[in-house]
Amino acid sequence: MTEGARRPMMAANWKMNKTITEAERYMAALLPRAANSGGVDVAVFTPFTCLGVAARMAENSEVLVGAQNFYFEDSGAFTGEVSAPLLLDIGVDAVVVGHSERREVFGETDEVVAKKAKRAVDAGMLPVICVGETKEERDSGGMWDKVSGQIKAVMDELGDADGNSVVFAYEPIWAIGTGDTASPEDAQEAIEQIRGLLRETRDDAFADSVRILYGGSVKPDNIAEIMAQEDVDGGLVGGASLEVESFEKLIEAADK
Ligand code: PEP
Repeated sequence: MTEGARRPMMAANWKMNKTITEAERYMAALLPRAANSGGVDVAVFTPFTCLGVAARMAENSEVLVGAQNFYFEDSGAFTGEVSAPLLLDIGVDAVVVGHSERREVFGETDEVVAKKAKRAVDAGMLPVICVGETKEERDSGGMWDKVSGQIKAVMDELGDADGNSVVFAYEPIWAIGTGDTASPEDAQEAIEQIRGLLRETRDDAFADSVRILYGGSVKPDNIAEIMAQEDVDGGLVGGASLEVESFEKLIEAADK
């Protein structure tokens, strides 16, 4: 597959926001607009409480509805957790895995993240696997140690899953929710390096087909230059995805 054959993706991460009523209103506005975004995969990652209604509304559309987390075991004594079969039961197509807020606030390790990525693929859900470094790690020259370690842990666990069955998102932690976006060149450099590592640890077919998104204060006014970077295949967006008008502008810009 050539580089140009990767289909861009624009993904909304609502984090811990929106009631069911707000989710219904958002999906009702998004679905007709997303129907015209032929060249882009659109995904919306909602809180657990909104997933059922969002998935039902998106059922006959191309829009993917995803969870922001799940647990890699299928059932049992795991109070408070939600499994892949439970998500599939309500029509969920995708899941964010290893978001930095899960890693930093809830202590998810590289090993747990890798198991979640593998379980999602085996269950037929698309994992969007997040990696990224803190400001301190970047400033002390430790960015690549951190990011490559996160990627290698996932690749060791994934087995022979192909490049279309997963998506990676490079999200420098210092750029998430801060308004402090990585420069388009920094995003390109990191994502190119990640693709190179995937080529080394797996093969050309995987590296050329897997989509790698950028996340961290993506907004309508910076998306064009980010999308213009050769290795950037789309965005994972928090704040600027909460208003449907703003998310729609991002989808249009990704249709490159
Ligand atoms: C995110 O939620 O993954 C994210 C990148 O948030 P924001 O766009 O608000 O920085």
